Amino acid sequence: MEEAVEEKDKFRDIFSTSRRALSLAWKRERKLFLVTLVLTIFLAGITYLQLASFSNIVDEIIRMQKLSLGVTHTLVKQSIVLGLSFLIPAILQNLLSRYSAALTIRMGTHNQMLLIDSYAKLDIGTIEGSEFQTKRDRALKWGTGSINNVVHYSERVLSDVTAFIVAGFVLYSINPFLVVLAIVGSISYYFVEKKYGKALYNAYYVSTDDIRIEAEKVDHFKEVKRLIEVVLFGLKKLFRSQILDINNSYDTRVIKLKSKESVATLGADIVQILCLFVAVFFVTQQTLSGKLLIGSLLLAFGVYRSFVQVSQNFFRDFSRLEEQTRYARRWFDIFDMQSKITSKVGALKPVWAKPPVIEFKNISFAYPETDNVVLKNISLILNSGDKLAIVGLNGAGKTTLVKLLCRVYDPTEGQILIDGIDLRDIDLEHWHYNLGVLFQDFAEYKLTVREAIAVSRPDEPIDDKKVKLAAQMSGAIDFIEKFPKKYEQILWKGFHDGVELSKGQHQRMAVARIFYRDALISILDEPTSAIDAVAEEKIFEVLETKLEGKTGILISHRFSTVKNADQIAVIEHGELKELGSHKELMAKKGRYEELYTMQASRYLESE
Ligand code: ADP
Repeated sequence: MEEAVEEKDKFRDIFSTSRRALSLAWKRERKLFLVTLVLTIFLAGITYLQLASFSNIVDEIIRMQKLSLGVTHTLVKQSIVLGLSFLIPAILQNLLSRYSAALTIRMGTHNQMLLIDSYAKLDIGTIEGSEFQTKRDRALKWGTGSINNVVHYSERVLSDVTAFIVAGFVLYSINPFLVVLAIVGSISYYFVEKKYGKALYNAYYVSTDDIRIEAEKVDHFKEVKRLIEVVLFGLKKLFRSQILDINNSYDTRVIKLKSKESVATLGADIVQILCLFVAVFFVTQQTLSGKLLIGSLLLAFGVYRSFVQVSQNFFRDFSRLEEQTRYARRWFDIFDMQSKITSKVGALKPVWAKPPVIEFKNISFAYPETDNVVLKNISLILNSGDKLAIVGLNGAGKTTLVKLLCRVYDPTEGQILIDGIDLRDIDLEHWHYNLGVLFQDFAEYKLTVREAIAVSRPDEPIDDKKVKLAAQMSGAIDFIEKFPKKYEQILWKGFHDGVELSKGQHQRMAVARIFYRDALISILDEPTSAIDAVAEEKIFEVLETKLEGKTGILISHRFSTVKNADQIAVIEHGELKELGSHKELMAKKGRYEELYTMQASRYLESE
């Protein structure tokens, strides 16, 4: 639920969000924006020209009859003005629809790009954080279309205000009392719109909780995976009746609202008609007493009606604007998010001929907004080209340790030194360029095999030899070679002839990407959870032996698969329990030896 906002804050919010959306349109599509704005405002005013010239024609005809004149010069002139007052708006209206459509389409693309830019500018720690995810989920519900709608309704409101001022001015010039009557006649519509218009609009267009729940249920019948379970479990009856119940209660609510709104509108109509009667009576009196001409009587009537209509439009458009600014603001909240981890001004971009020495120096860490210290005083040195394995049970802190090395977060205490330089002093993008990292939750690319491997070096043309080598090293070659189109095979079932990979195959593709990237420092964080222990050992063996001269860090909860690493770090409850080679640690007969023996015998039994 939205918190209750003070009326004053509400207007300030509407105004500032509209200003922001309009300034986006101004910055990105200045010409289209200006043209649509000017045309909208101009068209709002010009309708009164029709009424004015018609009233002049009537007055002229009466004058001609009185004086028994033939067709006068004034009549011809006014007739031309009347004709133009219809022709010009028709042409302008035509242009307006064309430019408005172009503006909406172009702004749609700009907003999409803005979204991509603002997501991608954030650091990983912020993206992982709950604030970003909550804000993104909230914004996603409404789509970037709300930004366009704010531009559209702001223009409409401006047009209504223009029409309102012009009509008010014409009425005032006939008689100020008419303005008072017109305002009294219109104001009741404001209350109707305030009470029912918004509620109905919400019910129709805005996804309420009920509609979301219903859509979720309907999805069970749309998605193949879910539909299969619907059939298997015989869920149709249950979901069908739930959907029907939601629909029925929604329909009843909307119908009730609609009939209440009709009664209220009728009340407003009566007030408006009463005011109209008074106005007609007043203007007729004035005409009879000779203070007004017949033409002016007609003009007054027409403008009065139009004033009331414009007021109604204004109340409706303003309430839509208010609604849309609420959703647009959610996008702006995301655009405004700032990265927590950034490069310092003047950050260093060292050029390394060989992998730099990495030193964790008394590292302690608690995740932001938590007190739980997940890494405690860790110190270890990784020489150039070393292969380090980090092992430990789930939740020990292994991933967190490499996240600090990737500078997803900065340590709470201690330092990470890269060839003696504090990691915080190194340019973040430059550092990431030198890393090849595979986390457990990796992305799956719906590309061809060769593209899906080479995507890890996006700035370089694809080297097919390297692609094949990477596929060999990760073991992906086993299934790639069986595809009819081999490296040109599309990995997307949605495509004709496309294939879908299993989780384990996806993992091998992800590992191939890291081999293809061939960075100075490669980090594999349990890339093999869907692959059996023997296959994991093989992949690690390749990494440990084939990445000559490059630094490699492997994370595994399996103690038995990393024995070839130069150093094995055993992490337990965030502490570095043991550090050494397999041989050294086995000889030590400590935690490593205990868990290694236990797991090795288990794998032996199960394989
Ligand atoms: P491992 O990789 O050894 O399985 P992790 O480094 O993923 O362990 O997690 C270590 C501890 O940090 C766990 O207790 C985990 O719940 C906690 N943790 C992991 N990620 C976050 C996060 N984003 N926010 C808060 N706590 C986290």
